Amino acid sequence: MEQSYWHSVTLDRDACRGCTNCLKQCPTQAIRVQHGKAKILKERCIDCGECIRVCPYHAKQAVTDKLACLQGYEYTIALVAPAFYGQFSRTEDCDLILTALLEIGFDDVFEVARGAQEISMATRELLEGEELLKPVISSACPAVSRMIAVRFPNLINHIIPLRSPMELSAQAARVEAMKKTGRKMEEIGVFFISPCAAKATAVKDGITVRKSHVDGVISMKEVYLRMAQQIGSVKEVKKLSKAGSVGALWATSGGEAKGSRALRSISVDGIHNVIKVLEDIEDDKLSDIEYVEALACPGGCVGGPLAAENNFVAQSRIKRLCRELPEENDLIPPEIPRLWDGAPVYRPVMELNKDLGKAMEMAMAIEDLAERLPGLDCGSCGSPSCRALAEDIVRGYAQETDCIFVMREQLNDILEHVKKNNIAIPQELLEGWENDGQKEG
Ligand code: SF4
Ligand code: SF4
Repeated sequence: MEQSYWHSVTLDRDACRGCTNCLKQCPTQAIRVQHGKAKILKERCIDCGECIRVCPYHAKQAVTDKLACLQGYEYTIALVAPAFYGQFSRTEDCDLILTALLEIGFDDVFEVARGAQEISMATRELLEGEELLKPVISSACPAVSRMIAVRFPNLINHIIPLRSPMELSAQAARVEAMKKTGRKMEEIGVFFISPCAAKATAVKDGITVRKSHVDGVISMKEVYLRMAQQIGSVKEVKKLSKAGSVGALWATSGGEAKGSRALRSISVDGIHNVIKVLEDIEDDKLSDIEYVEALACPGGCVGGPLAAENNFVAQSRIKRLCRELPEENDLIPPEIPRLWDGAPVYRPVMELNKDLGKAMEMAMAIEDLAERLPGLDCGSCGSPSCRALAEDIVRGYAQETDCIFVMREQLNDILEHVKKNNIAIPQELLEGWENDGQKEG
């Protein structure tokens, strides 16, 4: 089932220098460094983009569609995430930004802020009912949903059963365009301009969304670069924006929780902070909280690895913009469904073995091994921690001597044995070993 693990985040092996920076930052321990190069364990990766952010050599990349893809359709629509407005210094002029999108080749624009407002309204309705398990967790960030599916299966039932603003907007954009132009569904291409890799994966993996209404996901950076040249030469600004502040605020951390109007909500951003909150929910420490907005990127969608602007600058621009916008935006027809087409499916990628007895044996072997390893979590072995190395050894992916401390001990034992038994070995090799031992010891 290779298609089940389609990922936007990939490694450029030639650029990778094996520095291990990404190794410890990966929230699902999906990275190993072997033979001087990083490797992504596909089944564990949730496309959060954290490794893209921390790699100093730009060896981790997000695969997205290119603007050239527009050629494949007779009529194209840019789905504009509210985070896009934060990329430009003239944020207050949404119409100018949208008009420039038409000038670089799109036939139409549709603001995802409209879908976001609808999801805020649907969230309020669902929170008023008694059926949902509290705290209710937002379904908007695909990296968080995937994290729950691989590491927190007990929390799947806490995710609010709503589509993402991107999916709702994509369907609404297509329906509007079909009515407006009389074109057939397949003649219309809907392209999301994305600040993150997780959205590209959500559209294509067939897991996060069963059947996406988005035809392509284009990196915000790529579109920004084209727009930066174009925006100064727009002659006639068209009246295109229909966004309201409730939807536009979804670009930054806190906006979605505000839109939910939940009395007791929390907003958490950054994947490592999200993990802490999910652990607290699992431990029943947040039972008095009604709604949790959880976003993998720092600062929210504006902090996505494909955004062009500094996250803090973009946040400030969006907040300024929202003070000028009307609260409500144009509504989306009620016949377009708000409810999702299915919950994320548990993916037991951390499971040791399907057979419970064997899994127990492996768990005990991991405990034993972990105790023997130095516990420094230095990453030199190519696994993210000593415990992860123990697990890799038990799974058959690594060996004990991958640990440089174990290796040194074994070399010292050999040296002692050689000396004790007067085994002849070349003098320069012996000196080298002894010097290394003194330096490291
Ligand atoms: S951060 Fe990871 S991908 Fe980048 S060079 Fe270092 S090991 Fe390679
Ligand atoms: S995208 Fe996230 S989960 Fe995937 S390898 Fe990078 S850091 Fe790990």
